Amino acid sequence: MKPLISPTACPCGSGRLLAQCCGRHHVGEPAPTPEALMRSRYSAFALGLTDYLLATWHPSTRPAQLPADDATEWKRLEVLDSGEEGDRGRVHFRATFREGGRWALLEEHSRFVHEDGQWWYLDGDSAVHRLKPGRNAPCPCGSGRKFKACCGPV
Ligand SMILES: [Zn+2]
Ligand SMILES: [Zn+2]
Repeated sequence: MKPLISPTACPCGSGRLLAQCCGRHHVGEPAPTPEALMRSRYSAFALGLTDYLLATWHPSTRPAQLPADDATEWKRLEVLDSGEEGDRGRVHFRATFREGGRWALLEEHSRFVHEDGQWWYLDGDSAVHRLKPGRNAPCPCGSGRKFKACCGPV
């Protein structure tokens, strides 16, 4: 039997446990800031929680559905900048992912809006860059180890 609260590290890389970090928002506690919402959405992507992604997407920009995406493994999140002004919020982040044997970096400037007592994801400007980590380069997952000794091909 799986424990109800899984003692795993939060995928957003905060260093906290999932249940004490993004997991609280996944089960209904509103994210207090645009950055907290963005982190919880990244974790939801990593965990495949499409219902949460749709529920935190502003109705004016929300897609009708999200395709199941089991091929993408989200490896690392870096929040570069975030802020809020009145009912508007923004987060600049980088997310590293792997699809099959390919690595890539998604960089996005996301926009958020505060409405009906909660933050919503509105939209963003994003770009994807392909990564080609060398065997002796730092692993793109952010572990601090060499690629060949971490996520690299065996
Ligand atoms: Zn988290
Ligand atoms: Zn790695």
